[in-house]
Amino acid sequence: MRKALLIMLIICTWLSAAEIRDGSLYLEVNLHTASSMDLPEGEYSFCDASGLFCQDLQGKLSISILKDSHESRFGIVERIEETELSECEDAQNKVYFDWEGAYLVIKQENRYFFPQSFGTIEQAKAYALALGLPERRIEEIPIVNSSIVITDAAGEARYFESPVKIAADQLWIGDLCYEGEFILKEVDHQLVINQILPLEEYIAGVIPNEIGNNSPMQALKAQAVAARTHAVNLLLYNRHAKDGYDLCNSTHCQVYKGKHLRNSAIAEAVSETAAEIMVTGDRVVDSTYHSSCGGKTDSSQAIWNGAYLPQLSGSLCIPEASKYDLSTEAGAANWINTQVDTENMSSWERSALNWQCSIDRKELAQNLGLSSITSIRIVKRGESGRILELLINDTHRLQGEYKIRQAFNMLPSSFFYFANNPGKTLVHPGKRITIKGRGSGHGVGMCQVGALRKARAGSDYREILQTYYPQTKITTVWIHHENP
Ligand SMILES: [Zn+2]
Ligand SMILES: [Zn+2]
Repeated sequence: MRKALLIMLIICTWLSAAEIRDGSLYLEVNLHTASSMDLPEGEYSFCDASGLFCQDLQGKLSISILKDSHESRFGIVERIEETELSECEDAQNKVYFDWEGAYLVIKQENRYFFPQSFGTIEQAKAYALALGLPERRIEEIPIVNSSIVITDAAGEARYFESPVKIAADQLWIGDLCYEGEFILKEVDHQLVINQILPLEEYIAGVIPNEIGNNSPMQALKAQAVAARTHAVNLLLYNRHAKDGYDLCNSTHCQVYKGKHLRNSAIAEAVSETAAEIMVTGDRVVDSTYHSSCGGKTDSSQAIWNGAYLPQLSGSLCIPEASKYDLSTEAGAANWINTQVDTENMSSWERSALNWQCSIDRKELAQNLGLSSITSIRIVKRGESGRILELLINDTHRLQGEYKIRQAFNMLPSSFFYFANNPGKTLVHPGKRITIKGRGSGHGVGMCQVGALRKARAGSDYREILQTYYPQTKITTVWIHHENP
């Protein structure tokens, strides 16, 4: 009896995460995940989820998971109820994002288990069979008795149940500094440390890593709205729900580095576009973006084989590129060889616009798991000139811009031609293959180099966004309140 009660208490506090406080969306953004971690010299306060058990600790600390504390149990779901976000109930609750009407909502799904739980899946199956319940009702109860051990410099250990709230003026992880609220959890035998912060703070920590902190104001604002819209769209995929946070801090979601490289211009760009996201009709837009299209952006349909989306259907970025049909070999090669004015561009913009590299024929074969390369045929290019399909040796089909970039040792983009055979569809490569290309990234959505060009030429951020995400409008009313 006591054990069943213990399991219920712990599972109901396990999962996350997001919440709306005073009309602002607060997120859990992952900062670090590891089997153990060290905190540098500092003053920290650790509290359990109830806030009743707190300890202040100073100096260097090391954090680990108590060995053998992890006990997997299998339970049988009795019923699932959808509720509004609420306090912990006697159930396992899963918090997730959804889009209803024109609003983002945070929902809670409560899973109520039969009181019996089992050490093996076979025992759970036998019990389900006896009750006449289908096996799909059996679920592993995620965390039982997880204990986090925090050891101070003197070697004295303190024990906490996951999750643990951390209060600290500053939290250093590696060479990056974070300020605010933090939470430490055990998720799937790993320690997970997250920052809990308002969406707007998160966006301010994303912009400098994405477009640079000394960009013109209208480009910073365009990036703020694109990054905010992208974040909201990512939340709706709930793809980190099992990891114990809402968004990760790497390119998988968006690169977030806390206060690193932040300045007053970034604060201004975020506050002057506060809460602005792009929508089509009542739906939030998938506002993906990339470094440099190279002339024209591509459609999400061509690049990712998705449905046709008017807001991601491709746009003209550099006006001179309109003279070339980049989906043809001659058009692609001629445009790559055409000089583009790079005055006022920073070095990263220039290198994202024009590049050249080479690869040994043997290395390419190795990357593709082939014994040799005798021929390369360019089968298909997108509107942006990106190669979408190659046929190697007449037998090996290579599809998708990312796979093509990978095969050639991670090219900046798949918009390139073989320098010895410009304009040719079929190439019989020599010992070393030279490639000339333009652009960086997948080519869908906003082009950052193009956004910078337009901002320098006097465009407003709304015009910039309209270029890359046509047929969208900006709204600030999208967080669901009691009375929207
Ligand atoms: Zn991610
Ligand atoms: Zn561009």
